[in-house]
Amino acid sequence: RKEQLQLLASVDAITKDGVTLQLSSNISSLKELDMALRHGAQGVGLFRTEFLYMDRDTFPDEEEQYEMYRKVAEKTQGHSVVIRTLDIGGDKELDYFELPEEDNPFLGYRAIRICLDREELFKTQLRAILRASAGGNVKIMYPMISSVDEVREANKLLAEARKELDLRGLAYDPDIQVGIMVEVPAAAMISDLLAQEVDFFSIGTNDLVQYVLAVDRMNEQIAHMYQPFHPAVLRLLRMTVDAASRAGISVSVCGEMAGDERSVPLWLELGVQNLSMSPQSLLRVKHRVLNTHADEARRKARDCMGMSSSSAIEQALTDFASSTL
Ligand code: PEP
Ligand code: MG
Repeated sequence: RKEQLQLLASVDAITKDGVTLQLSSNISSLKELDMALRHGAQGVGLFRTEFLYMDRDTFPDEEEQYEMYRKVAEKTQGHSVVIRTLDIGGDKELDYFELPEEDNPFLGYRAIRICLDREELFKTQLRAILRASAGGNVKIMYPMISSVDEVREANKLLAEARKELDLRGLAYDPDIQVGIMVEVPAAAMISDLLAQEVDFFSIGTNDLVQYVLAVDRMNEQIAHMYQPFHPAVLRLLRMTVDAASRAGISVSVCGEMAGDERSVPLWLELGVQNLSMSPQSLLRVKHRVLNTHADEARRKARDCMGMSSSSAIEQALTDFASSTL
């Protein structure tokens, strides 16, 4: 079965009735990138850069980051690479960067909040990403955005980073695309406003589920309450995708939900064409897409959107996936 799936690496992800999905990968290292490319990833939909900052004694400098981003862009050839700016805090800590003790780290000083506070740290990374964009199809993505002001502030620092490179005579893509993760419920709810500020959305369902259901994604004891198919999650997904399409910007999903083959009908019904997932999920999801009738799947998803409980929705999607094996 594994060998059979591997044969799909070079096949496009098209449903039986001709709907094409774009399957890209989430990576955090060159090793994961290699695996993603072996599994036919059409680009990198999420490069989790925090791992470049972990297991070491100091922050990586601009040069070191540039080297890494350039290599990823080079290896991904032709396809795009979405580089997410530093997303530490919450569960991800750095030995050399003392974060305050917090009662609620997941609601605290993390990700873009740190970057907007520590401007040099942020601009160093932005310059490295910009420089990598000179030699590849690179995009910038901000994590944990919860307001329009945060996007504007981040973009102001991005403009400064560009100016600094201009002064040094270093090249970058002047039309580089800038997007945000939609992973805080507030962002989904103001997605129409945020869509006016950015070039693309990527929905991070891992955090979105945790925050909208108030269920810690790391807590074993309440793991059964962590329900990606909860009607509240589906409504936020719909709001976000609709806002993106009305504004004419692209939208992808990069949380674990994208790598769950049972979700395929939801993406087809919502109109999500780009999915980014772990390298291990790519071939399974592609196999599912190839065996799906988009028309039937959309009908099933519409049923699900009308259901009132996540267990009923999950059951319906599980049954649908196994009936079309
Ligand atoms: C997410 O929150 O869905 C996501 C993709 O990012 P991370 O898992 O790194 O928080
Ligand atoms: Mg996240």
